[in-house]
Amino acid sequence: MSDRLEKRRDKRNKVKKAVLFFTVSILSIGLGLGTAYFTSKYVNNSSGENKNILGSIQDKMVLGNRDSEDKNTEKEPEVKKPLPTDVNKGSNTSIEGDKFTFSAVDAQKANEYKLTADGNKMVFLTFDDGPSPKSTPAILNILKENDVKATFFVLGKNVDKTEDHKSILKQTLEEGHAIGNHSNSHNYDKLYPGRSANLNNITEDFETANKKLQEVLGEDFQTKVVRFPGGGMSWKNMQPVKEAFAAKGIAFLDWNIDSTDARSKNRTKEQIVSAITKELDKMESANIDKITILMHDTDAKKSTVEALPEIISLLKSRGYAFKTLK
Ligand SMILES: [Zn+2]
Repeated sequence: MSDRLEKRRDKRNKVKKAVLFFTVSILSIGLGLGTAYFTSKYVNNSSGENKNILGSIQDKMVLGNRDSEDKNTEKEPEVKKPLPTDVNKGSNTSIEGDKFTFSAVDAQKANEYKLTADGNKMVFLTFDDGPSPKSTPAILNILKENDVKATFFVLGKNVDKTEDHKSILKQTLEEGHAIGNHSNSHNYDKLYPGRSANLNNITEDFETANKKLQEVLGEDFQTKVVRFPGGGMSWKNMQPVKEAFAAKGIAFLDWNIDSTDARSKNRTKEQIVSAITKELDKMESANIDKITILMHDTDAKKSTVEALPEIISLLKSRGYAFKTLK
């Protein structure tokens, strides 16, 4: 082989190597860049994704914490959960006391001989003109000993007279009895001037009493049961008053048995029990089995307290259930 031929082949090989090196280099650079690009893209994505997953786990943990925080805050009202002795919101009894209630509207129908016996014998013991530190606590004790409930038609002027009066009123409600409004003043001349009902004066007087009741028993307390001083049957021009009260969902309640404890200062326990027994017989023969008994828990009513255990056992022996008025 000639030198010239050999040199040419050498030169051709060098060119080939250079082209190969160049191609490989380009490919390597391209591959490198490509790899770098895809890697960076993939790594960013995946780390982004990881970040999202992590983020959502963290979020869930935070939410979880929030949930448990919420549960914790929900637990607070559980702590403040109303007691059975608390006011049954919007009514005139405690939560426990609500179990013993009966419609005052129906009880009044029985008083007016418009609701005849249905075999469900009920008695509503009612005490007017309190609270009184001299008689109400004694009455509450007797009711508790005998496991019966009653309705107290209180006077606004008495409910906030002293701290003692206020706490007796609270105790009355807490022990499951119902509270009715018997006006603020009990002043016949103001409520029924010339024995004729004055709607404005009556409305204002009962509202004053309501405010006082709420001040002592709380905003949740609301009584829809009233008893007009002297009784709704005793005065002229009562129809507009009854209609105005009925329009507000307020029931008025008289009685069908007067215990006669207010008839005189010297009324004895025997006279009271005997009067009730006689009237009860009358009601039973008139086919009335919803009995409302009028009594009083004022400072002077010693004989009412003395007669009460006998009154309760008489009514129990005749099969009456003791209910309150709502
Ligand atoms: Zn009265």
